[in-house]
Amino acid sequence: MTIRNRIALQFSLIVASILIVFSIVIYVVSATYRREEFYDRLKNKGRTTVRFLVEVKEVDRDLLKIIDRNTLTALFDEKVLIFDERNRLIYSSVDDQVINYSPSLLNRVRQEKDIETHNGRNELIGLLYRQNGRDLVILASAYDQFGRSKLDNLQLTLGWGLFVGISITIGLGIFFAGQSLRPISQLNEQVTTITAGNLQRRLDEGNRQDEIARLAINVNDLLRRLQQAFEQQRSFVSQTSHELRTPLAALKSEIQLGLLRPLTVPEHEAILQNLLTDADRLIGLTNSLLQLARTLETIDLLPLHPIRSDESLFAARDELTAARPNYKIAIDYEHVPESERETLVAGNEKLLKQVFINLLDNACKYSPDHTARVRISTDDTHCYVAVSDQGIGMTEADIARIFEPFYRAPNALDYQGFGIGLSITAKLIDLHHGSLRVESQPGQGSTFTVSLPHL
Ligand code: ADP
Repeated sequence: MTIRNRIALQFSLIVASILIVFSIVIYVVSATYRREEFYDRLKNKGRTTVRFLVEVKEVDRDLLKIIDRNTLTALFDEKVLIFDERNRLIYSSVDDQVINYSPSLLNRVRQEKDIETHNGRNELIGLLYRQNGRDLVILASAYDQFGRSKLDNLQLTLGWGLFVGISITIGLGIFFAGQSLRPISQLNEQVTTITAGNLQRRLDEGNRQDEIARLAINVNDLLRRLQQAFEQQRSFVSQTSHELRTPLAALKSEIQLGLLRPLTVPEHEAILQNLLTDADRLIGLTNSLLQLARTLETIDLLPLHPIRSDESLFAARDELTAARPNYKIAIDYEHVPESERETLVAGNEKLLKQVFINLLDNACKYSPDHTARVRISTDDTHCYVAVSDQGIGMTEADIARIFEPFYRAPNALDYQGFGIGLSITAKLIDLHHGSLRVESQPGQGSTFTVSLPHL
């Protein structure tokens, strides 16, 4: 079932239930009111008759019958019967009918004094009238033709009212549900036209206020991010091919050079040495690419645990200096932490160590003294690790681009590297919900500050 039909059905059911309950209540109240009013009329009739018969000397039975029959307010199928204490009928407003009332009914009237019941379709009341020690039982019955026909009319009116009301409700329900969901159908149509090839398309954001407009805004946001990711991936693939082609072309030209003419042993050695250097560079590049791919693959799956950021930093320093003994790394605290909690962050030990290794490696690599200084500090919310060097530095324009894969500043081209480390580093810091700030002056040095929210 579509949402439109479900909303229309629910709406119709609610309104129909209210209408039905309302109609039933009106009908029941009217029926009760009619019955009570009719019983009152019957009682008045019975009392008047008995008073005329017993208390007004001038009125005898025959006159009373004449009066009864000629009363303008006579009820339909009206009968008034009066019985004495021996259940003998002493007055009947009708002669031509066989009167047959059970003694048990008369006894019930004597006990209860006032009863309201019915005889077939007729309403019947019984009253006990006591005078001069005589107990007379009055039974009065009639058919409430006027009241019942009013009730039938009411029933018919309510029935038609219900039918028309529910039909209109269903129609309006379908119409309004369709109207309110139309923007969703339109969004749906627009979304189906978006494919990987035209991610630059955007959905109509309508009035930018209601829920559907907000959905469109969010989907547009998602499309923007997807488009960026697609473009990044596309340029990454073309840059990667370019990066791989350069050393491969160098390898090929060296091999061609070697094949041009017969070579001496030292010439062979020189060419093989060059080939080895180029092969090493290719292996290094492939390894970096592999590392980037693995980081991107696993980045969302890795669980974070409480770890001490300063311990990861010391581990990174030890690993790096073991591999490059000429690197000098000095670490100090702005103030000695009062508790280990100050440097505790939610993180992954291996990946956080990788972040610090990349930053320390760059700082040592791009400074002639191969020295990096690290300062650890904390405040109420964050733990900061600032890696500084007095090396070649960067311009503002370089700082804006160094996190792009393969970007290398012009002054860094003499140093070994592929321009991938910092893009991995930035993604890993993102994973740790942290941020990275860069300050640098060309020729004077750089400071990379990692800030991580502590626990
Ligand atoms: P790589 O160091 O392999 O070139 P990175 O991604 O680590 O790749 O760095 C990207 C670029 O950022 C470097 O090529 C360099 O231009 C610049 N850079 C990074 N760290 C420093 C630093 N400490 N001093 C100067 N330049 C740096």
